[in-house]
Amino acid sequence: MLAILLAATLSTAIRAHMTFLADDLLEGRGIGTRGYDLAARYVSSQFEAAGLNTSLQQVPLRRAELIPEESYVELIRANGERTLLAAGKDCIMAGDFRGVTDVEAPLVYAGFGLTAANHHHDDYANLDVAGKIVAVKGGAPASWATEERAHWASTKGENAAKHGAIGIIRIWTDEDESFGVWDATVRSYSDIGTFAWLDGETPRPFLPQLRGTAWISPQASTNLPPRVRIVNHSRMSNVQSANVVGILPGSDPALHNEYVVISAHLDHLGIGVPVHGDAIYNGAVDNASGVAALIELARMFAAAPPRRSMLFVAFTGEEPGLIGSDYFAQNPPVQRETIVADINIDGLSMWPFDSLFARGADHSSLKKNLAAAGEPFVPDPFPAQAGFVRSDQFSFVRIGVPSMILGAERSGEARSIALDWLRTRYHRPSDDMTQRLDFDAAARFTTAIYRIAEAVAQQDVRPKWNRGDFFGARFGTALTRE
Ligand SMILES: [Zn+2]
Repeated sequence: MLAILLAATLSTAIRAHMTFLADDLLEGRGIGTRGYDLAARYVSSQFEAAGLNTSLQQVPLRRAELIPEESYVELIRANGERTLLAAGKDCIMAGDFRGVTDVEAPLVYAGFGLTAANHHHDDYANLDVAGKIVAVKGGAPASWATEERAHWASTKGENAAKHGAIGIIRIWTDEDESFGVWDATVRSYSDIGTFAWLDGETPRPFLPQLRGTAWISPQASTNLPPRVRIVNHSRMSNVQSANVVGILPGSDPALHNEYVVISAHLDHLGIGVPVHGDAIYNGAVDNASGVAALIELARMFAAAPPRRSMLFVAFTGEEPGLIGSDYFAQNPPVQRETIVADINIDGLSMWPFDSLFARGADHSSLKKNLAAAGEPFVPDPFPAQAGFVRSDQFSFVRIGVPSMILGAERSGEARSIALDWLRTRYHRPSDDMTQRLDFDAAARFTTAIYRIAEAVAQQDVRPKWNRGDFFGARFGTALTRE
């Protein structure tokens, strides 16, 4: 109740936290930088002030940074003719944890590169790819459910390795071009490097069997050669970066050993390629806004602790691929089985909205908790983005925890501003505090998260995956399956 009384000041508080976190002083909160560490210190102080049991979970990370001038792909024709594809121009390559790799082998086209028993689909059924490099296209068959499709699409490297392939070439198709043109993609691709967390000395995730990986241009994709060579030179460094964790003990002796997680990533892209003379990627909406809400939600819950315990966490390493949240999920500060749900925040609605949608909630009983928000809900209006598998909540799904992330649906001017943001400010230095932002909308969005999380934390039973659900069947446990 107190939380509701405070609603008038919620928008002000969100603006204040965002103003600090997205300040140029924090230099874009790049992983392993002083700017990120200052942001983490700010969040931990705020958690402490709210009365949470606060700690920093240091994540040991390795970064592999591609040296583009020394990295390339060679297409080798039947007559021996070689065509060079330069990294960052005719092919996209990422940092490789081997440092130097040089592999040449026959190239075998393997369609989507998927083996999905539940769809009786196997692109490798009649192929021998042992010791060869496979060429695969993106995505998955259109008849499969969108989120499932996005999940399968992320298994291609692993599947290629399992079939004995030693390298993987991703071809660029018309469908890829319809999502983002090649020229822009190849120029904007990953300045921050490849990151993995270190399990001892082993980077995770990392597939040592695949000795070369590259994404080749549309021109090269339409006329695949019988052989390719992939050469990758990368610079390696180890960095430390922290997840910030705050625990609020639950009020019910029977349920306080269960935890509802609310999460938001704190990292952004740091200092990078300048755009209009500005090199600081402030990450105001993405995701200073989510962290601002996380801090305020911690205060709201601390004012009246619910029956279950609440675990608030600000993640490092989201931008290079959910690395900080994967480390957290694999090394949780509480027993893994006691985590009952994750409600993740990756961007508040910073513009007025008509209704909400909850990515992931359809897969579990979390859908029943949405009514608590007191807001209208619509189906995900952008299913093709497969947002459910693209942010930190998916690290929890992979350990079997029902999870969700809220989004907002808008109309009129607010809709055009939001679409314009995606086109012109997303992952650019202009996602800063000078843009037009509506903090009342942000407060309304945050209040909805509060009410949903509270419903989960108060109810008698823990959330469960729906009977027969794909993600529940694949990752769920006896405790979390219906
Ligand atoms: Zn984000």
